[in-house]
Amino acid sequence: MDRPTRREAILGLGAAALAAPAAAQPPTFPKGAIIRTLFADVAPGSLGGGATLFHEHLSLGPDFSDRFRAAGAAVLRAQGLPASGAAAPPPRTGPDPQRDVALMVEELRAARRDGVACIVDAGLPGTGADLGFIRAAARMSGMTVVKGAGFYTEPFYPREVMGMSEDQIVRALIRQADEFPAGAFGEIGSWDEITPAERKVFRAVGQAHLATNLPVFTHTGIPGKSALEQLDILEDAGVDPRRVAIGHLGNLADPQAYVHKTVCRRGAFVGFDRQGGANDDAVVPLVMALIDAGFADHLLVSGDASRGFARPLTNFLPKLRAAGARDDVLHRIAVDNPRRFLAFTPKRPRRPARA
Ligand SMILES: [Zn+2]
Repeated sequence: MDRPTRREAILGLGAAALAAPAAAQPPTFPKGAIIRTLFADVAPGSLGGGATLFHEHLSLGPDFSDRFRAAGAAVLRAQGLPASGAAAPPPRTGPDPQRDVALMVEELRAARRDGVACIVDAGLPGTGADLGFIRAAARMSGMTVVKGAGFYTEPFYPREVMGMSEDQIVRALIRQADEFPAGAFGEIGSWDEITPAERKVFRAVGQAHLATNLPVFTHTGIPGKSALEQLDILEDAGVDPRRVAIGHLGNLADPQAYVHKTVCRRGAFVGFDRQGGANDDAVVPLVMALIDAGFADHLLVSGDASRGFARPLTNFLPKLRAAGARDDVLHRIAVDNPRRFLAFTPKRPRRPARA
């Protein structure tokens, strides 16, 4: 018998989980569907048996965490709540791969070795995300990277967005999508109370989706109260919920998983995108409840991280398995679902690559 590879050993899943299980139904994709990565439009099946992480950050500005904390605290203060829940993940010690492309390349290579085939970068204009850095890290590491487009949350909008009409924002979104080129809109966000400017951006993202057919993934605040409203706004704008992933729903402490199930019932994906770390134990029962309710095809897992990208696979999936999730279900969650989410039939041709 072959010894398990490092990847299989780390995953604790055996070959079955990431290699397509024989019994599983292969995912189907719409005719002509592609995944639009930074450097090529690829057939959804060509990402092979590796996992796709739908929400990570290769590059955010050095002041992003401080601004995020301040924005989250301000939102909670406005609601008369203590600001303790606003904490971003604690700053890590040691050199930051986001400031050193060689370190980021190492992170991406390590993720590839651990079974990650594709990463979606969720950093947007106004967050300090550096597209040149992301492109360089992707090129040098060989990691397949899909770039998100859009505007994040009101505290992070580039100043001009506040004065723009919805139509102007739609045009700006399509310009970004053509230029990056983007393979999704996201992360498009709000905190619990969606502001008028954020509603405008969400409606514009809905319009830009109709013009491009790019999938949409979102950021909800803690505790994720805006989830259904975000879906409402996008659906009202004409977006098919099956093309939407509502993000950060591991933050939503809801023992009945009512909101999560509602998002699934309406056809959208639920994003558990801060996994592989401290909050895994609280999220496992939520994910298991959704699997038991028959919603495994609606689940997406990622880390919302800038290093240690494979942790959702190496740390979180084994916890689901220990809780009773079958290997074919884990394979669907890690490999098939994100490819189904990202696959789309383009309405706008890919621009020729820049020299
Ligand atoms: Zn994020």
